[in-house]
Amino acid sequence: MVGVPNGFPVVVVGAGQAGLAVSYELTALGIEHVVLERARVGQSWLGLWDSFCLVTPNWTMSLPGAAYTGDDPEGFVPRDEIVEYLRRYASSFGAPVREGVGVDSLEAGPGGGFLLRTLAGELRAGSVVVCTGAYQRPHRPEIAAGFPRDVLVIDAQDYRNPTALPPGKVLVVGSGQTGCQLTEELHQAGREVFLACGRAPWLPRRPGGRDIVTWLKETSFFDTPLSALPSPAARLGANLLVTGHRGGHDLHYRTLQAMGVHLLGHLAGVKGHRASFADDLADSVAFGDARHADIRKLLGEQLPPKGIAVPELPDPPPFHADPPLELDLRGFGVAIFTSGFRPDYSHWVRFPAFDAMGFPLTDNGASTVVPGLFFCGVHFLRKRKSSVLFGVGEDAAIVAQSIARNRPQQRTVPSSA
Ligand SMILES: Cc1cc2nc3c(=O)[nH]c(=O)nc-3n(C[C@H](O)[C@H](O)[C@H](O)COP(=O)(O)OP(=O)(O)OC[C@H]3O[C@@H](n4cnc5c(N)ncnc54)[C@H](O)[C@@H]3O)c2cc1C
Repeated sequence: MVGVPNGFPVVVVGAGQAGLAVSYELTALGIEHVVLERARVGQSWLGLWDSFCLVTPNWTMSLPGAAYTGDDPEGFVPRDEIVEYLRRYASSFGAPVREGVGVDSLEAGPGGGFLLRTLAGELRAGSVVVCTGAYQRPHRPEIAAGFPRDVLVIDAQDYRNPTALPPGKVLVVGSGQTGCQLTEELHQAGREVFLACGRAPWLPRRPGGRDIVTWLKETSFFDTPLSALPSPAARLGANLLVTGHRGGHDLHYRTLQAMGVHLLGHLAGVKGHRASFADDLADSVAFGDARHADIRKLLGEQLPPKGIAVPELPDPPPFHADPPLELDLRGFGVAIFTSGFRPDYSHWVRFPAFDAMGFPLTDNGASTVVPGLFFCGVHFLRKRKSSVLFGVGEDAAIVAQSIARNRPQQRTVPSSA
């Protein structure tokens, strides 16, 4: 294999923030390893749309050993600067990254350990840390298959900018962070945009003149453990509606409605050129308002004991809408699905190491099924912050320490699925 000898104590798969943070911690512990990256460092960010800016503030670019040192901690750098940050980070400690080496399968090695197959050859490993992304496969509901041929159907990952789309009205399906940001951009580019809304928490960007993420960092919000979620499916719920575009501003149901976007309920079906929508827009907005109230309560309970004054978060104004329950799709050029993501390891990780939703079964990042197999960067791996830039480092350190503790043992890996 070019540049990669065929055996390592540890192989890390993926060179995004999670893989690099794990590499940093392994390096600090003196553990020999290699990081295999199928494309380039920071590739996932490059796959986002042209105008993408960080949604969490710049100070969150603080991976282990690389705290944010810029002069705009509450600004929001554009996409390419995030990638630059990750590349500088990788070279800062000489991360042993091999770019252009995708792992096609991970299975039990003959006689123990792991066997990784790549186009460049096979590789043996004592332990493997899978860091292939928090947001892996775009979730496109089956309804998407019913659109007429004259409406282009794409996922958010295929969206680059307004001019790259065919002309006509736009239907955006999904009102999470991405859906709202694409809707705003397309509306401002002069498109008539219809947004099929789901449920998402929202908050103002800068209550009391400070970024909402900075406020929440003062509370237990980002440390919420997986076990505190109301149900396993809550792990798939939307993140806070905010944007980092144009210096960061409020962006949610009410701001979009005020600018002239047509808000709709959930997309319920498509038949020919008729699209139907659930009568649930008000319920979705009420869900978001309830989360707004929950977070206000959290701030009110947890800031005063720290001597921090609570920012004002007034009740949201009443929401009125009478959305159509059907649309004629003639005149629409494109439907963009921004309906979230699902984990997707099944095509290459050949172990029965996942739950019914496809999330790895883990304890502190260690697979509870396969000894020696670890995961990092998974959404809610340990906590809410597990998949974000300022949270992944904590998990990376725990995973690296666990590998260090178990290093001398000779493991027997269960058979592959
Ligand atoms: C639209 C969007 C906006 C976001 N905004 C923010 C934000 O503002 N702030 C924040 O903190 N987080 C944000 N996130 C969440 C998170 O920080 C990113 O998803 C981040 O990229 C996750 O880092 P990661 O290292 O876990 O995964 P990734 O960055 O996805 O890295 C995984 C790497 O693994 C590689 N890979 C995959 N499969 C293989 C394989 N089989 N073999 C070899 N290599 C492989 C990929 O090429 C990729 O480079 C956002 C996510 C999305 C989707």
